[in-house]
Amino acid sequence: MSEIEGGCNCGAVRYRLTGDPLAVAVCHCSNCRRQSGSAFSVNVVVRDEAMRMTGDVATWEDRDTESGQPVLRQFCATCGSPIRSLSAASPKVAIVKAGTADDPGRFVPAIHVWTSSALPWVEIPAGLPQFPRNPA
Ligand SMILES: [Zn+2]
Ligand SMILES: [Zn+2]
Repeated sequence: MSEIEGGCNCGAVRYRLTGDPLAVAVCHCSNCRRQSGSAFSVNVVVRDEAMRMTGDVATWEDRDTESGQPVLRQFCATCGSPIRSLSAASPKVAIVKAGTADDPGRFVPAIHVWTSSALPWVEIPAGLPQFPRNPA
C-alpha cells in the first residue's frame, strides 16, 4: 500500500491513509461486534499521523476495555458508519475499520484477536495467529 482512501456511507467523512498499515487484525470482541453490527470487525492499524480525515465524526468513549483505558470509537455523525477507534493505551495509532476503505479487499487479515468471544460459526483460517484476548 502507498496510499488509500475511504469514507462513510453518506460521504460526509473521508480519509486518506499514507504508508503501509502496521497490522490488519480481525477483532472478535463483543464491543467491536456491537459497533459493527456484524460478527467481527476487520481493523487496519496505522500510525496516527498517517491518517488524514475530513468531515464530522461523533465520538463514543468506550470504557469497557481490558486495559481500563478508554477507546474512542468514532463514527460519521450523519450516517453512523464506524470509521476508526483511538485507544488511550496505544496513543500513536489509529484503528481504522477496513470496510470503510474504497478498496477494502487489499487488507488481508494476518491475525485474529479476542477469539475467546468469536461466534461459533466463524472459521478462522488455519495458520493465522490467534489470541483469546488482546495480544500480550
Ligand atoms: Zn456519513
Ligand atoms: Zn474489538
